[in-house]
Amino acid sequence: MSNARENPSDSGRRQHGPEDHLILSELNPKAVVDALDEGVPLNLITFGNVREVCPKCKQHLKLVLRQARVRIAHLLCSGCDSCFDAHYANGAPALTI
Ligand SMILES: [Zn+2]
Repeated sequence: MSNARENPSDSGRRQHGPEDHLILSELNPKAVVDALDEGVPLNLITFGNVREVCPKCKQHLKLVLRQARVRIAHLLCSGCDSCFDAHYANGAPALTI
């Protein structure tokens, strides 16, 4: 007997199709985070790495949701401190909860 227990209707609905590929657009960090005093470190709460990588340095981006000094949820690169917005190919925002 072979392992023929997969539901046939599941084929073609793969998890990692092109549909769920996120499109990144760089944001001005000053637009997403409240103005900082020079030299004062910003303690961002991040919510783990995401699958997307930084277009500049290929590090995995971290999800940063809205919090005290963060105006917009975004993806943060810890390698080059770039901020990115993300949306799906169909234009729907990917970072709203
Ligand atoms: Zn980077």
